[in-house]
Amino acid sequence: MEKVVLKNIFKTYEGDVTAVKDFNLAIQDREFIVLVGPSGCGKSTTLRMIAGLEEISSGDFLIDGKRMNDVPSKDRDIAMVFQNYALYPHMTVFDNMAFGLKLRKLPKQEIKERVHNAAAILDLEKYLDRKPKALSGGQRQRVALGRAIVRDAHIFLMDEPLSNLDAKLRVQMRAEITKLHQRLKTTTIYVTHDQTEAMTMASRLVVMKDGIVQQIGTPADVYGTP
Ligand code: ADP
Ligand code: ADP
Repeated sequence: MEKVVLKNIFKTYEGDVTAVKDFNLAIQDREFIVLVGPSGCGKSTTLRMIAGLEEISSGDFLIDGKRMNDVPSKDRDIAMVFQNYALYPHMTVFDNMAFGLKLRKLPKQEIKERVHNAAAILDLEKYLDRKPKALSGGQRQRVALGRAIVRDAHIFLMDEPLSNLDAKLRVQMRAEITKLHQRLKTTTIYVTHDQTEAMTMASRLVVMKDGIVQQIGTPADVYGTP
């Protein structure tokens, strides 16, 4: 069965901006889907509807065959990585990763295990006591990934997670995220305006323009084989 299904999804904002028009996509478990297209084409809006951070105007959104339109964000089996990391500057790396789990009142021991497990995957074990400002850009980005991993969700959403990094680091983190996906195999929906990212990371691409899906296919389908 498909992991995620989006059927005839529309989003109209107040003021009558239709940001997404008739979006249709069925995502298989373990896929790495990249939404790509110019600024303003509706990528973020689509991702935020999946996350539950934005209401769906019409259409059906399913996870594992269950309609999720009206399920609150916190009850969706989803973890999101934001562009600006959204790290808490006054908290250590450990506390940044543990924060959501503490809010959910998970047992202390389980929180510790999940954070240490994520830190091991991301090579952050030595930095758990540091504050974000004492980290490099790449390490901060890994902490943001760690915050998503500890949630143990089956779907990752990433909204331009690399766009604040310099070019060299972007290439490095691109490879790291691909490796992470090969290891965890979490179904991922990744938003970018960067064609190179789209081409190198996606198992399938969704090309958007002016709120409309133009094309869906593998990188070879969309950009041709190099
Ligand atoms: P992208 O992520 O591809 O840059 P967005 O999804 O952010 O595109 O935006 C799609 C369109 O919706 C744009 O025209 C944008 O101005 C508009 N939009 C985005 N968010 C809002 C909002 N909260 N209220 C009104 N219009 C919005
Ligand atoms: P959490 O650490 O559990 O994400 P926050 O206090 O940071 O909790 O955020 C409050 C709510 O915002 C969450 O219950 C969730 O609905 C949403 N949210 C925040 N961060 C994420 C995330 N990384 N992935 C998905 N939803 C999130």
